[in-house]
Amino acid sequence: MKIGLDYDGTLADNRAVEIAARNLGLINYPDYSYGLAELSKEHRAETWRLFTDPEYMGNLQALPGAIDQLYQWKNLGHKLIVITARGPKLQPSTRIAIEDDFPVVSKILFVDVFDADKTVLMKQEGIDVWIDDSAHNAVAAKNLGIETYLISNKHTVHNHQSRSLFPADHIVERVAQILFKTIRIKCDHCHALLKPTIHDLQDNRCRTFVKCPHCRRPVNVLTNKIPPSWKHAIYKGATNEHCYY
Ligand SMILES: [Mg+2]
Ligand SMILES: [Zn+2]
Repeated sequence: MKIGLDYDGTLADNRAVEIAARNLGLINYPDYSYGLAELSKEHRAETWRLFTDPEYMGNLQALPGAIDQLYQWKNLGHKLIVITARGPKLQPSTRIAIEDDFPVVSKILFVDVFDADKTVLMKQEGIDVWIDDSAHNAVAAKNLGIETYLISNKHTVHNHQSRSLFPADHIVERVAQILFKTIRIKCDHCHALLKPTIHDLQDNRCRTFVKCPHCRRPVNVLTNKIPPSWKHAIYKGATNEHCYY
């Protein structure tokens, strides 16, 4: 599958608002929107200074578990594409930071402003799964019919109000907690592209097979590359591997 990922708050720890508050000696500051509208003028200016500083942006740290998770996905044959928002001045340092921590990412794409619409690039790249902490991009991806995961935790106050827009099993604190509900495999017989969901397998009595909607023949999902976490779910209660429709 093609897995599309946001960078700040999804793969990397970018807490510019908190750091700006610390730099200014602010103890209490308001919960903020994605546009930083609720911040004071000086807090907003300091946050913006960090957002436009190549050194700060080039030194963001990977979030816990993110590097390992991306290696796992890559090893399963998934293609990883990061789409992040950076003005032209910040793109070179950001690219280096991503390549350093996440050499498994095969493509890094930028939109120019940080609340920009990423859906044009999602469509262009044929993204199957989208992972993001920003609610506006996550909702936009979901509306495109993309399987979308919202990263939401105590550092993502900007998306807490939007949690109700996502099913509970599509909200996670970290990328390492994601268990995809859809896989993309090829029919062994007619080579059509199939997208069975984990429920297709759990709900049918022949759990290691799905029926190809094109040639109507059974396809063994276990001969395809699937996540290890799926194998457990599939084998649990499976009748046997030779079960056919
Ligand atoms: Mg983000
Ligand atoms: Zn087929």
